[in-house]
Amino acid sequence: MNNSVRTPLTFSGRGIGHGSAIGKLNFYRRSERMSQGGIRRSRSAGEETQLLRRAIADARDQLSRLYDTTHRRAGENEAQIFEIHRMLLEDDDFLSVAESLILDGYSAAYAVSEAAERYSAVFASIEDDYLSARAADLRDVASRVASILQGGDTGRTVELSGDEKYIIAASDLTPSETVQLDRDRILGFVTFAGSPNSHTAILARALGIPALIGTGEINGDCNGADAIIDADSGLLYVNPDNSMLARYRDKQRRDAEDAHRQQLFRGRPTVTRSGRRLRLYANIGNERDAALALQNDAEGIGLLRSEFLYLESDTCPDEETIFNAYRETVKTMSGRPVIIRTLDIGADKQVAYLDPGREENPALGLRGVRLSLASPELFRTQLRAICRASAYGPVSVMVPMISVPHEVLRCREILEKVQSELAAERIPFDAKMPFGIMLETPAAAVMSAELARMVDFFSVGTNDLIQYTLAADRQNPALSELCESGLEPVLRLVATAAENAHAAGIWLGICGELAANPALTQRFIDIGVDELSVSPPYVLPLRERIADCN
Ligand code: PEP
Ligand code: MG
Repeated sequence: MNNSVRTPLTFSGRGIGHGSAIGKLNFYRRSERMSQGGIRRSRSAGEETQLLRRAIADARDQLSRLYDTTHRRAGENEAQIFEIHRMLLEDDDFLSVAESLILDGYSAAYAVSEAAERYSAVFASIEDDYLSARAADLRDVASRVASILQGGDTGRTVELSGDEKYIIAASDLTPSETVQLDRDRILGFVTFAGSPNSHTAILARALGIPALIGTGEINGDCNGADAIIDADSGLLYVNPDNSMLARYRDKQRRDAEDAHRQQLFRGRPTVTRSGRRLRLYANIGNERDAALALQNDAEGIGLLRSEFLYLESDTCPDEETIFNAYRETVKTMSGRPVIIRTLDIGADKQVAYLDPGREENPALGLRGVRLSLASPELFRTQLRAICRASAYGPVSVMVPMISVPHEVLRCREILEKVQSELAAERIPFDAKMPFGIMLETPAAAVMSAELARMVDFFSVGTNDLIQYTLAADRQNPALSELCESGLEPVLRLVATAAENAHAAGIWLGICGELAANPALTQRFIDIGVDELSVSPPYVLPLRERIADCN
């Protein structure tokens, strides 16, 4: 490494997960793009096209095998990406761009890479996390085909030496690269691009390791350099000086001591000093996270964000797929309650097959329950899957983005219809499955006295309640200070809703990010909140914090 890159460098990005990692940066290597000599074809266009078609057929075979192996090893959700890749190779438009490049004189390997670049650039230019992730998929699949054409190896892995653990640095990791990583060797991730929906981000959260995305390009000379990722402050330090290293080692020691002390709260009830009992649940995105919730001793699942299953798929998942995922979660939680939220697609979570049409203000548009009620078949299928899962353990259903009582009535009517159908088909389900709603709009909080008489519980989605109360887009970093400092009106809405809930004899919980904020725990207890639901790594720290409250 030359001297200039030994100078301390700082990069900022978006922190994923929490804590810090100290280790060497290991740049992820993948097969290089075409050398200049490989760009022009040396055969006839017909021969080159044949080669391309054969390589695509081979790539599809490889992807089917990868799907089978990963399915056996890690389950349907992890494997699904290879099925998506296989389908990308069936896209006629993409293939005809590649073939026309061959006609223009280019080699098959160059043509497939270039076609992917053109398509990816279009995806990447759209400000949508889901579509940016598809751009990475397209590049991934094209580099597999190019590799086959060049007689190369496609089983790419990070080159790690000895037993050392590393911080992986990459421009962006594709999903198939991510699932093939040796998880035991990774201290953290840094990606120059990347979106919070990317598989890297999802994996980092699930593994509980820090990650930083969107740092911008990091010079390849930094490969092998010492580095620190601080996911809490969203910073990466390359070539940190000794005092910085000492500071972070100290921080890690304190974090480790905290984690050790918090372990003592495993298996203990969640109770305040004055003896008030609370329920402490976990928020999860899929059935694999349920194991994490259990490891962290969550007393149940307070929010299963069911949309992830839909976001990971290119087509609408069918009833069996959804049911299997829910049943798996319920079984993993072995008797602990699971609250499944119905689909919250819309606004920042878009899927191509559920297009609400062009909206001026998607956050104020057809999202959550509004989309479910506008797509009755979709809603019915999901409710059937939830009801069927309720035969395997204590399941509750919860509807997001309620703003008026009429929406609750409609949902309950549809649920009752679904339950009658299941009964007629002799399919088992829990007829007493609790029905709850999320309080995420000021309208619902204001109407909470009426709504409380229509449901079995409330769960406050503070992420959205803050955005709608303060009229401040939750995605806009320029408004984060307003969202952090302007909480009083939101807390008053929560207090009103808690009072109304208790007057009607139902419970109220909080499942937005605010639930994990230790500075608010005493206030929530004073308000009378009955349940807090947080990301799995926050369960034990919060139980410790509650034990210290009155
Ligand atoms: C919320 O709004 O607080 C919430 C939990 O829902 P989501 O973050 O999924 O919109
Ligand atoms: Mg919400």
